[in-house]
Amino acid sequence: MELWQEMLRASVDSGKDLVDRFGFEPELAEKLNTLFHTRINPYYLSLIRYPGDPIWLQCIPDAKELEEDGFPEDPLGEDAQSPVPSITHRYPDRVLFLTTSQCSMYCRFCTRKRKVGDSGKISMKYIQSGLDYIAAHPEIRDVILSGGDPLMLTDTMLEKVVSGLRAIPHIEIIRLGTKMPCVLPQRITQNLVDMLKKYHPIYVNTHFNHPWEITAEAKRACEMLANAGIPVGNQAVLMKGVNDDPDVMLELMRKLLAIRVRPYYLYQADITKGANHFRTPVSVGLEIMDKLRGHTSGLAIPAFVIDAPGGGGKIPILPQYVLGRNGNKIIMRNYKYEIYEYPDVEEEEKKEKDPQQIEKKYLRKRKSVQRKKTYKPELVEVPAK
Ligand SMILES: *Cc1c(COP(=O)(O)O)cnc(C)c1O
Ligand code: SF4
Repeated sequence: MELWQEMLRASVDSGKDLVDRFGFEPELAEKLNTLFHTRINPYYLSLIRYPGDPIWLQCIPDAKELEEDGFPEDPLGEDAQSPVPSITHRYPDRVLFLTTSQCSMYCRFCTRKRKVGDSGKISMKYIQSGLDYIAAHPEIRDVILSGGDPLMLTDTMLEKVVSGLRAIPHIEIIRLGTKMPCVLPQRITQNLVDMLKKYHPIYVNTHFNHPWEITAEAKRACEMLANAGIPVGNQAVLMKGVNDDPDVMLELMRKLLAIRVRPYYLYQADITKGANHFRTPVSVGLEIMDKLRGHTSGLAIPAFVIDAPGGGGKIPILPQYVLGRNGNKIIMRNYKYEIYEYPDVEEEEKKEKDPQQIEKKYLRKRKSVQRKKTYKPELVEVPAK
C-alpha cells in the first residue's frame, strides 16, 4: 500500500470517531455522519490549530448542517444536465466526467453532497458509458475529470480513464479537478506525474481555501505537477469564518502563486442543503476582489463567479469599474478610486447611445447564444458631466 492509502485508512471516518476524538454527543455524531459522511485524513487534521478555526470549519461537521433550510440538494441542476450518470454536460464544448464518489476528505460545504461518498451514484461502472458519450459527441473538446476526487482512483485505474479519453480524436484538453494537493498532498507521487505527462495537454485545478493549507507538503505536490508540465489552477470557495476577509484572501492568492499555482476561480458559496451557514453576502466577494485588483500581481487575481442556481453556469461578477459615459467617453475608476476617462471609438458610440439600439444589440447576442429567457436590459441614466 502506498503512503497516501495508508493515511486514508487512518482517517477520522465515522460517527464514533467524532465522539471519541471530538467529544460529540453520540446521537448528533451519528446523525451528522449519516447525512454527509465525515472523513478527515491525519494530514489535514494536523493543520487544525484550534477548535472552530478555518481548517476545522471545513472538515468537522456542525449541528447547523441538520437545520431544515429548505435549500435544494442539487442547487446547480446538475442531474438535469446529466445525459449518462457519469457526465454533466452544461456547456457546448466541455463536460464534467465523474469518475468516483470518493474524496480524501469530505468538505462540509460540498455542493455535491447528494452524490459524493455514495458509490451507488458515481462509480467505475459508469466510466464506459461516459467514454462512449464523449466519443459520440465531437463538439466536446475539453473533459474535466471530477467526482468525488479523481485522484482517489489508483494510478492504474486513472490511466485507463485518461488514456481512454486521449484515444478520442476530438478531445483537445483533459483537466483534473482534485483537492489532493491541498488535503492529501502525499497523493502526488512521481509515479502519478510520470503517468499523467504521457497524455498532455493535462491541466489540474485544485482547491485551496486558506493560507494555512499552503504547507511544505502542498508546495512539493504542486511543484511536482508543474515540473511535469501540468499547469495548476486554484478554485477557492468564499466561506464565512474561513476566508471572508480581504487580507486572508490576498495572503492565500500570493502564497498560491509562490508554489506555482495560478488562482482561477473564486466561487460564491452555492445554496446547498446543509451548507447554508457558510454563505456570505455577494458584497463581501466584491469587496475582496476590489482589494485584490491593482493591489497585487494580476496573476494572483481569480475570477469571482456565481454558479447560477438551476444550471445557468458560472457567471462572473466584478466590482463597478465603469461609472458611466459622457458622450463618447467611458468614465472609469481605478483601484485607488481615481476617475479616468477613455474616449471610445466614435462610430460604435453613436449606435450605442440609442436605447433601442442597445436593446436590439442584446437581443441579437442572446439569439446568437441560443438562450431561452428574454433579457430586457435596464437602461441606466448616465449623468452628464
Ligand atoms: C465549472 C464547470 C465546467 C468548466 O467551466 P470552465 O469555466 O470552463 O472552467 C464545465 N462543466 C460544468 C458542469 C461545470 O460546472
Ligand atoms: S473534495 Fe470536492 S467533491 Fe469532495 S467533498 Fe470536498 S468539495 Fe466535495
